[in-house]
Amino acid sequence: METVKYLLSEDRLPQAWYNIQADLPQPAPPVLHPGTGQPIGPDDLAPLFPLALIQQEVTTERFVAIPDEVQRVYRQWRPSPLYRARRLELALDTPARIYYKYEGVSPAGSHKPNTAVPQAYYNKIEGTKRLVTETGAGQWGSSLAMACAFFGLECKIFMVRVSYDQKPYRRALMEVYGAQVTPSPSQETNAGRAILTGHPDSPGSLGIAISEAVEIAAGDPETKYSLGSVLNHVLLHQTVIGLEAIEQMQLADDEPDIIIGATGGGSNFAGLAFPYLGRKLRGEDDVRVVAVEPAACPSLTRGRYAYDFGDTGRLTPLVKMHTLGSGFIPPGIHAGGLRYHGMAPLVSHLLELGQIEAVAIQQLDTFAAGIQFARAEGIVPAPESNHAVAGAIREALRCKEEGVSRAILFNLSGHGHFDMQAYTDYIAGRLVNYDYPAEEIAMALAGLPAVS
Ligand SMILES: *Cc1c(COP(=O)(O)O)cnc(C)c1O
Repeated sequence: METVKYLLSEDRLPQAWYNIQADLPQPAPPVLHPGTGQPIGPDDLAPLFPLALIQQEVTTERFVAIPDEVQRVYRQWRPSPLYRARRLELALDTPARIYYKYEGVSPAGSHKPNTAVPQAYYNKIEGTKRLVTETGAGQWGSSLAMACAFFGLECKIFMVRVSYDQKPYRRALMEVYGAQVTPSPSQETNAGRAILTGHPDSPGSLGIAISEAVEIAAGDPETKYSLGSVLNHVLLHQTVIGLEAIEQMQLADDEPDIIIGATGGGSNFAGLAFPYLGRKLRGEDDVRVVAVEPAACPSLTRGRYAYDFGDTGRLTPLVKMHTLGSGFIPPGIHAGGLRYHGMAPLVSHLLELGQIEAVAIQQLDTFAAGIQFARAEGIVPAPESNHAVAGAIREALRCKEEGVSRAILFNLSGHGHFDMQAYTDYIAGRLVNYDYPAEEIAMALAGLPAVS
């Protein structure tokens, strides 16, 4: 295979994560306490997170050292490869140079262990016994379950019902790693019971599952909560992707003109893009950065930039983000990891500042792109990653129309080996597009909390 895969020596692994908060022209709006409307402090978050992660949420240091124990685990699969998609370029007959960073090489199959490992590590050293979390497609749950197994923590996972039914092998993987998995909404929490009373057949959503997990953590001093996306510390941990890519692109003697990532909560996108955006914000570089989201759950392109809850049960602090409303239950598309009503506050802030762009793509177009990619490159992408593939193909075809060669770098956030039922359904013509659910979103937005 024609690649630009470089086996970097051990000391080529980044020694620190990059924190974009150091380079923002203006800081992102503060996180607010839902009761008082005032900015929250470390004490408010202490029942849910270890101190180290709370500090990483707010620090403005440009670099945060990666602990040795975390680096040792990263070394099993990092640096992840950067490939040039030569055969895809030929298939598209484009003058574009297409590169992708492949995060499917982690044992769990996606970028998510990049943050699961440090989260489990910091919890372990601060005395946490058990982590509780939610998972959509199961990528996050399996990553956290693996990290908990590495560091000797118990793990409890609320899995969105529609994925629990669609993706039994992801659930099996979490159980192999030793986690306890419960479909959400469940009867185990007030938040879950409240939903089931109104909607006994609820497909669930990440927003609901978050409420269940937060409720359990808040009620047990030995249990803490863990989130796989959205929060600043999660995006921080993911920057190993972009830091490696900068070096790998230099080894390839090329520079990206366009950077593309799929956005659910924004973490893999930020992981690749933020180190490049930091250079742009410091005036060292210019690059277009494009976030690709599903048309069925279009928070960046159709949502409102407003303070909202991170969960459906309204238990979390209020964060300013592009949101479809915390009561919105997205259609059951196969890219389960992208079915979230909100967006990382840092990604939202950068969109408001005009530093990034966003596009929404329909489900069938993303699968067509994923299959074209698989036939050219061999790797079967996760349905979430297909959004980035589709975005990259669009840009490559634009290069062809305009007769210009640009370098496109996208994040292939994970493989789709546990998502083959989705591909089977696509090939059999059973998948459909979803129209923008305007009425449901309007209803959910009407319920936004009042913030003065
Ligand atoms: C979870 C997931 C995503 C979406 O989450 P982000 O936080 O937006 O990155 C994308 N791709 C894969 C493979 C995932 O597992």
